[in-house]
Amino acid sequence: RFRALVVDKTEESFAVDVKERTLEDLHPGEVVIRVAWSGVNYKDGLAATPKGRIAETYPLIPGIDLAGTVVRSGDTRFKEGDEVIVASAELGVSHHGGFSEMARVPGDWIIPLPEGLTLKEAMVFGTAGFTAAMSIQRMEENGLRPEAGPVVVAGATGGVGSTAVAMLAKRGYTVVAGTGKTSEHDYLRKLGAAEILDREELTGAERPLQKSRWAGAVDPVGGETLSYLLSTMKFGGSVALSGLAGGPQFSSTVFPFILRGVNLLGIDSAHISNGYRRKVWNRLATDLKPEGLLDLIGADEITLDELPDTLSAILKGEVRGRRLVKLI
Ligand code: NAP
Repeated sequence: RFRALVVDKTEESFAVDVKERTLEDLHPGEVVIRVAWSGVNYKDGLAATPKGRIAETYPLIPGIDLAGTVVRSGDTRFKEGDEVIVASAELGVSHHGGFSEMARVPGDWIIPLPEGLTLKEAMVFGTAGFTAAMSIQRMEENGLRPEAGPVVVAGATGGVGSTAVAMLAKRGYTVVAGTGKTSEHDYLRKLGAAEILDREELTGAERPLQKSRWAGAVDPVGGETLSYLLSTMKFGGSVALSGLAGGPQFSSTVFPFILRGVNLLGIDSAHISNGYRRKVWNRLATDLKPEGLLDLIGADEITLDELPDTLSAILKGEVRGRRLVKLI
């Protein structure tokens, strides 16, 4: 028997509780993993609300990320004792996820832990850090280089934002951080931000083209922040759009695209090939890994029992950096 956070919904009720489970309760898969760490993402917050539209089945153990050790494998690529990471489109959505002491998943979803990362560090990044790294990878594939100009990060104290600031600074970019939290400027400077802007300054576009400022933009906020970013990108600049913490609607015109060659890059960390996923994880273990990662990002450790409070806090934008769920 082991413990897991279980979300259940019926026509009359909705509940989020820590429960005892057995392996028989888990969904099918070739590989059984003892989970060491998971991390809390915005999407997990949505999975634990009745109207979140993330959970595709009930009861569901949420948790879109996990890192742990293989205890049993029917897939020849993995053996007992292997340290692995799992993050996929299905985990914590339609398949029981990482908020559990044990997990069972298909071998195809598994990434061997890259050399240079511990299981805990992998979850300090988690999908949030992976999304930040993929944003940088996609912008660099589209020509972004440190000498092209400053890169702005919206929602900078969040999971995607904080890891993006630290990684970009590590790579030698001039990073400008946008945040709604006036209390966190010191934190953002410690991560490597050269300049900090208030969230309001990154919101809305009075005109479709304004003074061009940014060579790149990491945007987990969307909404009117995206409207602003599109209007202020430099020629050939890239916006890597990953989220909607500020809402789904934005307004723009064709002008940033046809007069400044701006690239709007959609970042979907879930539906990518395993090869691309490994490539990005390898960068997280090497050139994108900030010095002193654990202290730098400030990843508070919580238990399964503390998860429900954190899940509601992340939806309110109250979580700074990352929260790690300790399962060992
Ligand atoms: P998070 O830790 O909650 O970070 C979001 C940050 O956005 C907040 O910390 C806050 O930062 C800012 N924010 C919150 N509410 C806002 C509002 N109303 N207007 C403007 N800014 C606001 O969440 P996360 O895990 O980093 O995820 C962020 C977004 O990315 C979510 O929408 C998530 O679903 C998405 N995401 C997408 C992918 C993908 O593959 N596409 C992967 C991971 C995450 P400040 O206080 O510093 O402004």
